[in-house]
Parts: sequence; structure tokens; C-alpha cells
Amino acid sequence: MIRFEDLVEKVRAGSPEADVELLRKAYVFSAFEHKGQVRHSGEPYLVHPLEVAAILADLKLDVVAVAAGLLHDVVEDTLTSIERIREVFGEDIAHVVEGVTKLGAIPFSSSEHRQAENFRKMLLAMVDDIRVILVKLADRLHNMRTLHHLPEERRLKIAQETRDIYAPIANRLGMSKIKNELEELAFKHLEPKSYEALRAKVESRRKANEGMIEELKRTIAAKLADAQVPVTELDGRIKRLFSIHQKLKRQRIDVEQVYDLVALRLVTETVRDCYAALGIIHQTWAPVPGRIKDFIAMPRPNGYQSLHTSVISERGFPFEVQIRTVEMHRIAEEGIAAHWKYKEGRVGADRDEQYFAWLRQVLEWQQEVRDPQEFIQNLKIDLYPEEVYTFTPRGEVKVLPSGATPVDFAYLVHTDVGHRCVGARVNRKMVPLRTRLKNGDIVEIVTAPGHKPSRDWLNFVTTSRARSKIRHFIHAEEKTRSIELGRKLFEKEARRFEVNFKEMNDPSTLDKAATLYGLTRADDLFAAIGYGKLAARNVLAKLVPEDELKERKPDTPIAAAVKRVLGTGEQKIRVKGFDDLMVFRARCCNPIRGETIVGYITRGKGVSVHSVSCPNVVNLLYDPERRIDVEWDKGGDSSPYTVRLTIQVEDRRGILADVSAKIAGIDTNIRNVEATSDDEHHGRINMTVEISDVKHLQKVIKSLRGVTGVLDVERLGR
Ligand code: MN
Repeated sequence: MIRFEDLVEKVRAGSPEADVELLRKAYVFSAFEHKGQVRHSGEPYLVHPLEVAAILADLKLDVVAVAAGLLHDVVEDTLTSIERIREVFGEDIAHVVEGVTKLGAIPFSSSEHRQAENFRKMLLAMVDDIRVILVKLADRLHNMRTLHHLPEERRLKIAQETRDIYAPIANRLGMSKIKNELEELAFKHLEPKSYEALRAKVESRRKANEGMIEELKRTIAAKLADAQVPVTELDGRIKRLFSIHQKLKRQRIDVEQVYDLVALRLVTETVRDCYAALGIIHQTWAPVPGRIKDFIAMPRPNGYQSLHTSVISERGFPFEVQIRTVEMHRIAEEGIAAHWKYKEGRVGADRDEQYFAWLRQVLEWQQEVRDPQEFIQNLKIDLYPEEVYTFTPRGEVKVLPSGATPVDFAYLVHTDVGHRCVGARVNRKMVPLRTRLKNGDIVEIVTAPGHKPSRDWLNFVTTSRARSKIRHFIHAEEKTRSIELGRKLFEKEARRFEVNFKEMNDPSTLDKAATLYGLTRADDLFAAIGYGKLAARNVLAKLVPEDELKERKPDTPIAAAVKRVLGTGEQKIRVKGFDDLMVFRARCCNPIRGETIVGYITRGKGVSVHSVSCPNVVNLLYDPERRIDVEWDKGGDSSPYTVRLTIQVEDRRGILADVSAKIAGIDTNIRNVEATSDDEHHGRINMTVEISDVKHLQKVIKSLRGVTGVLDVERLGR
């Protein structure tokens, strides 16, 4: 049974100046609090915290971690409060003890793969001091070592949790020694029959294998000595049962067929020696193709570095060799703990960014991801600096990017839950849908049948899933509306040309027309008309011979409007990338050639083009989806624009004549003129002129301003 003195010795071995008195105080405190408690093994409870502290001391962690190991069960299992620990031992130790206590309180009930992954990540995300995790792992390791004392049900639960949660965390943190032991013990308890059978088989070959290992070690040592490659450590072992077991399962083979049961580990001083040793081994034995792995040049995400190769001995005996430096070996065994050494006077400073940057980096990597869906999911998460862990009312974990709202949550649960979401309760309180969720929130979505997603949601959702589902829904609705509109426009056009729409309106005719445009169904055709991509007139012309297309009567004002909508569109402007889109200049700003313009896809009327300075632009273009790039067509229609000007003048005789003469003098047609007197001294001239482009307009305005008696010139219509 371990004694406190043994612990002190271990701590001193790692750091001779460690504060032993603090440890003694923690030991006495723990002994007093756990007094009279007994473990299932019958041993005094105190053995457990002592063993946990010893594991931490072996990892050469600082006194805070070791003391927290001694105290880790005090708050959970005795009447002592965390405040008491804080009083007696200070903030650091109390913080770690509190963290370990909290981790112990998280219920883990599902072994479903993704759920387990979420729990692992959640545990790590909750930890703001890596020592919390290290103490928890040490605690779990000792519990696993003594698991056989527990009743079966609890044993299986703890072993499953170890396999699903704690062994992968140890792996993520690069702590392979602890990970291996946890996996091995979990295997033993979870699959006792397989474990025992495999153990017996491996055992039966142990003698032969061990003889082989000795022989190989002698050969390697001699070859390396010849080549003057110094070796710090040369070790051979039969592989762990769990790793053999996994291999058997993966390759569906029997233990007799297992390729390499034996692994040799070679520790050298420098990286150069590692590669030199690899070369010597390959000269001695034939390497197995595809089995050489250079984790020195390309370290694993958890920081592991080593050279791996498999070779076949002269007797046809395959084995693996791992080659690494002393430092790489230490990191391979201890992982993050190797970075977390006790440094005198630097305990606080050890919470440095770099450790957490490293931890985060480890977390960000998603190993063992086979499902592409999951990979993308994780990749998305990684693009966000932080994640939020939330729960459904039934306790399932939902991982969201930070900043996510109940709407994001709802879409993560199910698309229909998202669409019908009308409200949310977070931790049992109703909250606005734009509320940002926090770690640990329990989110309940309130739905109403028939409710539809709101465009407004796009302004606050953060997940691409929610965004695309909302957009998709809105687009589908718009398409429905466009089909209706397109059908109406088409009917109207048919009436105008006295074509009987009813006769034409059978699916075969219209579907055929659709195929002429590369579309499949009549509805697509109507949608295209509704969106303004096709002109109803042109579609009609495809269905009715040209000579039968007779216009009923000249354009009435309504027909003129329809023509504007349905006609061939504005010939001066092109929509970039779409030659067939119908375009018209917005009447509010009436842009003219040369002005900076922007297009907006209207519902069913094609593209309306505004001047960027038009005040409506700001309001209309709130929806970036409908914004579209347009440009003035250089080869297009060059007929002039009509522009209305208002000219403020001094009220004097002959001013109208002067203004008219000036305009005629610069080769500009006047369509219409009206002059009025505002008061005794001021007059106003409203004038409609023909303008070819924006430069022309500027020239006209400038000339007018040069006329004696002209006070100001303004363009109307914007
Ligand atoms: Mn414990």
C-alpha cells in the first residue's frame, strides 16, 4: 500500500524544491475528511487519493496538481465545501478541485458515437485549466485499475465511459501511456471473453516471441554500434492486447495471421541518428512496402513524433520498429503533461497562452473521421473560433458555433422544427429568437403547425445549415409566386394577340414549349416569365405561327405598361452573365448611360436598374441575393434619354430665349418647355431635353449655369 512518504519521494524526484509542506497539509486534510470511509476493495478510502496523487507525481506535474489529486474527492464525497478548500489551500488548488468535481457531475448516458465525441469535446471545452483534465485522468486510471472490486453493472458503465470518453481524451492530449492502460483495462472489463481468449493465445506464443525479441535486439545493437549510431534505449515488447484485438477486427483475421505481434522501440539522441538507424534497419531486413511512416517530418496532430517501419526477419518473422529521440519519446508517452512541468515560481505563468493554443490545436484536429458528412460538420465548427455546447430538454448535446441562436438550434434538430419555430425557451424562460446561446443552455423550441420561416432570420442565424434551409424555403415560395405571375402575364399576352389561351393550355403543348428553352415543365416556363428571364411575347411566338399573331388593338395605356414589362426590355443595359434577362430603368431615378448603376431582380418584372445614388437603392437592395451586376451595353441602342431639368432664373425679359438658344447651341433637342414666375424676381423653367449620356447631361447643365441670370439647374426625376 502506498504511503505519503512514497509520494513525497516521487515529487522530489521530479522537482527537488517542491513545497512538501503544502502536500503534507493536503494529505492530512484529506485523511481527516475521508476518515472512516472504505473503498469496495475494503481498503481505507485514502488509498485512492494517494494513488491518484502518485500518478500525477509520476507525470512530474506541479505541486498544485498533486495536492489537487490528494483532495479531488473531498468535496464530492465528504461534507467539506469548496469554499473551505479555497480558504485552506488557496485559489489554484480550489479551482482544480472544483473543476474535477464538476466533471464528475456530468451525466454520460449514451454510447452513440457522435454523442460521445460531443461529450469529449464538451469536457475539454469546459476545462479552463488543463490540470483539471490531468487529475481527472489520473482519477479514472486508478479507478480502472481497481475496477474488479465493483459490482458488474457499475463496472460496465465505468469501463464503457472510459473507452468512449477518457481514453480518447488521453489520446487527444498525446498521453499514450495513460491511454494505452485505460484502453487495455476497458477491453478486459467490457469484452472479458475476447480478452481472455486473446490473452491465452498471445501467452502461448510469448516464450517464442520473447526469444525472438532478444535475438533481434542483439542484432540491432551490434549493427548500430558498428555504424557508430548511439542508442539510448532499445526495447522490445509484444503489442498490447487491445491493439491486436482491433487489428483482428479490422482485418477480419485470426491471431495466427496477425502480421506483427512484436514491436521494437529504439531511442536515439538526435533526429539524424533516427534516420541513420532507419537506414541500417532497412539494410539488415526487408522493409514491408507501405509501412514506412515518417511522423518526424509530419508529426501527428497530438504532437507525436517517431519513425515507424515494419520489416521481415530472415526467418520470415515480421515486426515493427519505432525510432525516436529522447525528447520525442517523452512527449509520446506523456503528451501534454510533458509540456506541463513544475517550474519553480512559474506555476501561475504556466497557464500561458501557448499551452492552451496547443490544446486548442489538438482539439481542432479531427482524427478518425470517416464519415464525410461528419468531416464537413467538424470542419465548419473548426472555422469558428469557439463552440457552444447546448442541450435538448432530453439531455442530448447540440454543438453550435459561438453566436448561434435558437433558430440555429432548431434547424440542427430538424428542418421542420426550424421552419415551424415560433419561439424558444432557454433554461425554461421564453427568449427572443435572436438570443445568443451560451455553454450549458437547455434549449426548447416552440413550434406552430403551418408557420413559415421569416426572411428576417437571415439577419441573425450563424450556421450555414439554418441559412441555407431558410433561403431554400423562401426561394421555393418565390418560385410559386413567379409561376402564378408568369402564367398571368402569359395569359394577358395571349389575349392581346387574340390567341385562345385555353386551347393552348394543355400540358403537352406547354411542356413542349418549355423544352424549346431547355426547361422541363410548363411551370418552369411560367416561372421564367415571372422572374423576367423570358418575355411572354417571345414564348407566344414559338407556339403560334407569326402570321396568326395579330395584335387586337393599338397599345392602350395598360397595354403599353404590359409592353414595357413584357417587351424586349431595355436595349441599353446588359446584365453581366445573362443575355436573356429583361431589364428596365427604374422610374424613380431614371439612370442614363454612363451613370453607375446597379440591378435588382424584381418579383416577376425582370431586372430594375437604379442609379447607385438613388435613395431607393438602399431600401431595395437590402436583399443581397437579388442584387445583380449590370452594365451599359456599348453596342446597344443609342437613342437618347429624356431628362427633365428645372432651372431657377432671375425673372427678366428674354431669359427663356437665352436658355433655349444655349441648349440648341450645344446640339441638344428640347422636347418640352414650361416657364413660370415664382415671385416678383424669380422664375422657374421646367424643360425636357434629349440627352445621350451622363457626360452630355453634365455639359448641358454646365452651359446653362453659364447663362447670365441662371441661378441654379437641377435634374428632376430622382
Ligand atoms: Mn476519485
